[in-house]
Amino acid sequence: MVKHRSALERIPAYKQGAMPSTSDVVKLSSNENPFPPLASVREAVAGELERIHLYPSMAAPELTARIAKLQGVEPENIVFGAGSVEVATQLVQASAGDGDEVMFAWRSFEAYPIIAIGAGATPVQVPLTADERHDLDAMADAITDRTAIIFVCNPNNPTGATLTHAEVRAFLGRVPGDVLVVIDEAYEHFNRDAETAIGIDLYREFPNVAVLHTFSKAYGLAGLRIGYAVAQADVAANLRKVAVPFAVSALAQTAAVASLDAEAELATRIDDIVSERARVTEELRAQGWDVKDSQANFVWLRLGDDTQRVDAALTEAGVLARAFPGEGIRITIGAPEANRRALAALAGVRMEARR
Ligand SMILES: *Cc1c(COP(=O)(O)O)cnc(C)c1O
Repeated sequence: MVKHRSALERIPAYKQGAMPSTSDVVKLSSNENPFPPLASVREAVAGELERIHLYPSMAAPELTARIAKLQGVEPENIVFGAGSVEVATQLVQASAGDGDEVMFAWRSFEAYPIIAIGAGATPVQVPLTADERHDLDAMADAITDRTAIIFVCNPNNPTGATLTHAEVRAFLGRVPGDVLVVIDEAYEHFNRDAETAIGIDLYREFPNVAVLHTFSKAYGLAGLRIGYAVAQADVAANLRKVAVPFAVSALAQTAAVASLDAEAELATRIDDIVSERARVTEELRAQGWDVKDSQANFVWLRLGDDTQRVDAALTEAGVLARAFPGEGIRITIGAPEANRRALAALAGVRMEARR
């Protein structure tokens, strides 16, 4: 066998949401946007096809200028990646190596431990509170001399819980200034919590804060792979050093610009998903499930030992959700018909339980 790093043996495989095998299956397993691409975005991408024999611009000047304006920062503060997963990888690669600690809540985004171990660092997973939120006190208590970077996922994937601005501010007050805190806001557009932490405001107040954004969820560009960080210039410069060269395609850059041009149209879609979320949550509660408010484009059922049984019933009904064995099931808010199918399958499980 060829040489390989022993750390790889500790990397959990990223489990992609199940892929449908037939057209009669609905996929609610990857938090994708159920709407097809906007016509204007398709057209922009089609126009860019003329140039796919050429490398993309690594500086992404047009998109960078747009995002800088949108966020009220300088272009030097913006770094793109092939999805925010790649930007998260840059953040860890730039901050943590052998023996350093990468902290995050658990359960949270499953890419965090993969990225941490891949960098040779040690993942430090701090359990969520009983109400499915980050335990920021426990996280602050768990900081050591080796802590290099902390992820705060708001709203949290897969629980949908948010943190208030006051809570995260108080937490940041306890984090040493040389520890980078990344606020991952992948689901920010679906977040209607009036008290929620606002990453960009915390970035302005605390120089050790970086904020992660993606075009995969609300903007519906998951297949094109583009996300970005807002960070202090020195942090951003380090991210560029470890970035995979040319990872962000011109197709992705063009689609992102076209999406920013279509914010109003996208906002309507986001509102639709948020109202579906309310309907699904209400219906689940009416069926008797214990479901907390979610501020993302999914709902979370904490099922413990029942997880596999409920997931089997969903699969049987042609509904693919994301099950975490022994913990629970995350169900993406899809198109109304897909949600109806998920709800009908779950109603069936309740009936069976009563029999
Ligand atoms: C989906 C998701 C992302 C975005 O991933 P991309 O690489 O941008 O597609 C980032 N963080 C969290 C918590 C997510 O759930």
